[in-house]
Amino acid sequence: MDLLKERLATVSDLDSASSVLSWDQQTYMPAGGVAGRAEQRATLNRLSHEILASTEIAQLLDAAGEPEPGTDTAAIIRLTRREHERATKLPSRLVAEISRATTLAEPAWEQARAASDFPMFAPHLEKILGLQREAVEHLGYEDHPYDALLDRYEPGSRKARLETMFDDLKRGTADMVRGTSAHSEEVREAPLHGKFDELKQEEFGRMISTSFGYDWDRGRQDRAVHPFCINFGGPGDVRMTTRFDPDWLSPALFATLHETGHALYEQGVDPAYSRTPISGGASLGLHESQSRLWENVVGRSLPFWRHFYPRLQKAFPETLGSADLETFYRAVNAARPSEIRVEADELTYNLHVALRFELEVALIEGSLTVSDLPDAWNAKMKEHIGIVPKNDADGVLQDSHWAIGYFGYFPTYTMGNILSLQLFDAALEAQPGIFDDMEHGEFGVLLGWLRENVHRHGKKYEPDDLIERATGRPLDVQPYLRYLGEKFGALYGIS
Ligand code: ZN
Repeated sequence: MDLLKERLATVSDLDSASSVLSWDQQTYMPAGGVAGRAEQRATLNRLSHEILASTEIAQLLDAAGEPEPGTDTAAIIRLTRREHERATKLPSRLVAEISRATTLAEPAWEQARAASDFPMFAPHLEKILGLQREAVEHLGYEDHPYDALLDRYEPGSRKARLETMFDDLKRGTADMVRGTSAHSEEVREAPLHGKFDELKQEEFGRMISTSFGYDWDRGRQDRAVHPFCINFGGPGDVRMTTRFDPDWLSPALFATLHETGHALYEQGVDPAYSRTPISGGASLGLHESQSRLWENVVGRSLPFWRHFYPRLQKAFPETLGSADLETFYRAVNAARPSEIRVEADELTYNLHVALRFELEVALIEGSLTVSDLPDAWNAKMKEHIGIVPKNDADGVLQDSHWAIGYFGYFPTYTMGNILSLQLFDAALEAQPGIFDDMEHGEFGVLLGWLRENVHRHGKKYEPDDLIERATGRPLDVQPYLRYLGEKFGALYGIS
């Protein structure tokens, strides 16, 4: 077991080193470094993959036998077996081809989006889709080819279960979406637009991250085009990035709250798990539950802003001096049908995800062709959200996920939204004073509950087990629907 742990620590170190290079690439690296950096990261990733797929690891896993169930060692063996299997199932030729195709597709997607020209991107998507379908055949599946892709991001989840989840959500929110779409949102959102000094925005965001419990001795925040959170093999160095718009408060503010949620999860994992496969968040859905909980359930709530709004007004007296708390609260919760997923409100966000899920399932099973994709996109926009994008740049070309080969990734966003409420409700049941604390800018009890029930366990439990342990039941859409109903019902006077 010691030798196996030593090899796994090497894998973790190689992956961490690759992550540091990735962080540097997205924050400080000059443009001229791209080609060299691609080689450096490919080398580290290859070395790590070679160890995981090696016959030595297979022998060490055999020798490990069946450790006592429920122990950390048992979890390490379980995850290593899965990673080893996955690493050996995909031929290295296919891994290299996917890497090459996506490296070429990403800049092509950027150009196609800039020109709003889908045919420019189509051959790349065609190629990537073919490789994904080939990968699915190697990985294997029981019910549906999509499950093999989903399993990379959300172990144990299945297409059939997601269909039920999205159907429940669509049915549960349809009346609210209709009820809010009649309102004019420009007036409602006005307080968020105006002059917002960047340094003041940064200072305000840091103050909130600190009050949530982010530990700056084990992290830092830098600027990047796309906000993200990254860590290096353990909870000792968990970094965030954000971006600022001097004329619009929302992007930096809510990205900072969101990334702080991801970072709190990573900073809370048991340090003893560092450099093992059970370090880090349990799944993408669970990770997203933490970012959404702090961004939306806390950060778009009235108790939260009762405490922080006077401080925000003090930071931006000219822009926000005349908008009262209620006006600001309505602004950060303005709901309306929109074209762009990342700018969507809490109510319509999951409809954007449902659309992507339905389309990528159809692409993977072969019932939809790449050339028919833009029309299918627009038809689904009409069906789910009630509007048709004015062009493909704001439609089918808006996300980078398919260009970088992330098929099966989108649904984890919605799972995160649903879980954020399921976990928050469980925390509230155990600690009814959480809202009172929030009004005083205190979050220690909420964070403590999340640490105890979610964070510290890392990947020790399978996502389904962790959810059941923390909340007493499997993934459940009802708390989320209830939350949306109460919140938007009150905001828009609809039932
Ligand atoms: Zn996120």
